[in-house]
Amino acid sequence: MSLHKLTLHELQDQFTTGEVTAREIVYAYSIRINQVEPKVKAFITQHKESAMAQAEALDQKLKAWRRTMPLMGMPLAIKDNICTESVLTTCASRILGNFVPPYDASVIALLRGQGYLLLGKTNLDEFAMGSSTENSAFGPSRNPWNLSYVPGGSSGGSAAAVAADECVAALGSDTGGSIRQPAACCGVVGLKPTYGRVSRYGLVAFASSLDQIGPITKDVTDAAILLNVIAGHDPLDSTSADVLVPDYTRALKKKDLKKLKIGVPREYFAEGIDPEVEQAVREAIEELKRLGGEIKDVSLPTTGAAIATYYVIATAEASSNLARYDGVRYGLRSKQMKDLLEMYMKTRQEGFGPEVKRRIMLGTYALSAGYYDAYYGKAQAVRTLIRKDFEAAFQEVDLIVTPVMPTTAFKLGEKIADPLQMYLSDIYTISVNLAGVPAISLPCGFSKAGLPIGLQIVGRPFQEDTVLRGAYAYEQATNWRVKRPSIR
Ligand code: GLN
Repeated sequence: MSLHKLTLHELQDQFTTGEVTAREIVYAYSIRINQVEPKVKAFITQHKESAMAQAEALDQKLKAWRRTMPLMGMPLAIKDNICTESVLTTCASRILGNFVPPYDASVIALLRGQGYLLLGKTNLDEFAMGSSTENSAFGPSRNPWNLSYVPGGSSGGSAAAVAADECVAALGSDTGGSIRQPAACCGVVGLKPTYGRVSRYGLVAFASSLDQIGPITKDVTDAAILLNVIAGHDPLDSTSADVLVPDYTRALKKKDLKKLKIGVPREYFAEGIDPEVEQAVREAIEELKRLGGEIKDVSLPTTGAAIATYYVIATAEASSNLARYDGVRYGLRSKQMKDLLEMYMKTRQEGFGPEVKRRIMLGTYALSAGYYDAYYGKAQAVRTLIRKDFEAAFQEVDLIVTPVMPTTAFKLGEKIADPLQMYLSDIYTISVNLAGVPAISLPCGFSKAGLPIGLQIVGRPFQEDTVLRGAYAYEQATNWRVKRPSIR
């Protein structure tokens, strides 16, 4: 089998036994990237040559000393809002178009410590604001299942790269669904960890109380392997949690769901859901039952307020986080300036795209004197109610299952002119961020048009192991992961 088709754990096996060399791995991926990247456009920056040099050095070293680490020789792609030392990190924005970080994000330092190879930095919606990767200053990525459809977003480049076999796995970031939604659109696995589980140090901030980095992979086992590496306390991130990290691959020993109570929130199957998506998710719930799970009806009554709450809190935080891009310290600086004020204004005018500007304006408004209590204060109060809904539901059940998205991937250009339509595609993922709980998205079917459908499994805080157990049992009992896009 061609190397690029293997999962991370399969490739690991071949590399550890010495069946393949790191050089052969990078060579296979370079060929694959050259072949499909002109169509998929998953990458902003490619890093194949450096990966090859690193691979050759690694092979040399291993001749004398063969003890491999979990990610040794594994070619990964990283979303371009995660800082990589000496490698361009643009956030898909003109304002950071020339930004080469002088340091690594903590997750990158962890991957490097395990010997990973960086194949490239992947495309996203500018500053991770969007659901389709069309808000990128470098143009959209495409869905490997059908090139006229979006790959989802904002981690669309990472999800497309994994689905098109342009890397063995990737990292994305998720503020309101940006790992899970593109994973669902591209038929791969995406895991958003509990808030605080994975360090945000070196992740370019969008909405700091919601952002989390997580894996996008070809199967559930690979998600567990990557989470093992990136999870854990980091003194460089003050919101990082000092909670023991279990070995997530141990959660994959059981192939049944006996003794697990699984909640189905009735509010997630209301109007607006595409019947094909609903059917696939309902069939998946039947499968979870066959596997021994006890299915229970639960209610998350504040679901209807989630989008409004999110778009006040996320834009408020973004308006504050993005105030640092002023042309003074790094990134773009406008050439047209009479004085300092004009330099700030022109830099931001030229550097930010329309969606980012829209959000800065919305967020600034929500935080302004006179409106703060009515909007921001109110949104924070509703956020507490949303979190309490989940707490109450998790008194009764161990996991909650829902669709990831109300539809399958949509066509390029279909929603870009209507931001509200675009925002609605996150209706099933956003509450999870507001509540800070972990959730995974994995394939559970295909539409008649041949586009993937995702299943979301949500867990209690810091119970990623239970989420992975549920996802693994379902994955092993079904055959969805065998289907791959036929792009060549
Ligand atoms: N689509 C949502 C937004 O536009 C979520 C983005 C994200 O998770 N980064 O804000």
